[in-house]
Amino acid sequence: MDASWGALSVASIKRILADHSNFPRSVCKHHAPESDLDYGTIGSVVIDVTDRLLWACAGNPCRAVWREVRL
Ligand SMILES: [Zn+2]
Repeated sequence: MDASWGALSVASIKRILADHSNFPRSVCKHHAPESDLDYGTIGSVVIDVTDRLLWACAGNPCRAVWREVRL
């Protein structure tokens, strides 16, 4: 993420939301009943307020299909 500092894009934010670094304590959390983290990501949203666009996905962003909505 440090490499993206000051230059975030929608694509780089989607990559961050799908990151598995430090699993199971990653940004993209998967249900892991074998750990003390018995919960997971159920969806993600990115909003570009300048271009008035919203991207959303249901489920883990590493697997889900992102949908674009013009606001
Ligand atoms: Zn994931």
